Amino acid sequence: MHRFVAPLLASATLALAQTPAPKMQPYGLVIHGGAGVIQRNQMSPELEAQYRAKLAEALHAGYAVLERGGPAIDAVLATVQVMEDSPLFNAGKGAVFTADGICELDASIMKGDTMQAGAVAGLRRIKSPIQLARDVMEHSPHVMMIGEGAEKFAASRGYEFVPNEYFQTEFRRKQLEKAKEKETRATNGTASVPIDLSSPGVSDTDWFSREQKYGTVGCVALDQQGNLAAGTSTGGMTNKKFGRVGDVPVIGAGTYANNATCAVSSTGWGEFFIRATVAHDISAQMEYQAKDVNSATAATLAKVAKLGGDGGVIVLDRHGNFAMDFNSEGMYRAAKFAGKSEVVAIYGDEPRR
Ligand code: ASP
Repeated sequence: MHRFVAPLLASATLALAQTPAPKMQPYGLVIHGGAGVIQRNQMSPELEAQYRAKLAEALHAGYAVLERGGPAIDAVLATVQVMEDSPLFNAGKGAVFTADGICELDASIMKGDTMQAGAVAGLRRIKSPIQLARDVMEHSPHVMMIGEGAEKFAASRGYEFVPNEYFQTEFRRKQLEKAKEKETRATNGTASVPIDLSSPGVSDTDWFSREQKYGTVGCVALDQQGNLAAGTSTGGMTNKKFGRVGDVPVIGAGTYANNATCAVSSTGWGEFFIRATVAHDISAQMEYQAKDVNSATAATLAKVAKLGGDGGVIVLDRHGNFAMDFNSEGMYRAAKFAGKSEVVAIYGDEPRR
């Protein structure tokens, strides 16, 4: 008996060894907490530690969802909500002030499998704008809702409202004061003459300071089923006026997800990100030119720079290839994928992928 069984066993073992192991679906996520002038010499070690810890906490919240087999869209929500609740970032609590001294919040979210999307803008009393964006996507026939209408929709879904003061911090109020000072000084030295934004010849930099640290938050995630999702949330820009809305709630500019290409979340000078349709531009290059994540990202950021804007993006494809790239000095960012070591970075000389 032995004489026959042993060779059989041996050949079965050999056959097993030759069958390639089934390829594991990579899963994980990439997050950002805003791009801008973020330099080592302007940051205290304590503040830097706080940022790194909060980025790691947000990253782990989303990763835990993916690790237990949850959908990418849930990971995006969990991650973004940690950052919305933290005063460190310009989203939810800690959002920047409008010229009228209040906070107005924008957010959007998108699923790569169905390409459903939801967006909200100009919210004043919703604690988690990303949650409302998701509800617009899942519980309404629309993609975008703004201001009072969006809040009415929230009320119909039983949302709890917070007073606008919930979002306001002293740090952001000081930023507004500084921005207003610059605005009046920029005219011609005579104080208290606000720039008339409708007058001819007013340039981009007349109302916007490049020194701003943006602070928008975002997440792109890939789940164990191979589905992508993206989400972004922001307070917009300090001293914004006239109901200004940036790129964040604009699907294809601030946020995009398509399983056939990639998931993208942007942060930066929103006017330029809208004009360059940043998130969709990256996806389109992958779709029509078969570019990879990194070259598509670099080409789109170069377009933004050529127009005169700055900022950054996080981009992720279905194979787990990702970029966290920017043309500003720094970007709060982090990434974590199954079986790989986690990255948490802030400055320009730290990893971007
Ligand atoms: N992109 C945002 C906006 O323009 C700002 C930011 O990313 O911080 O509203």
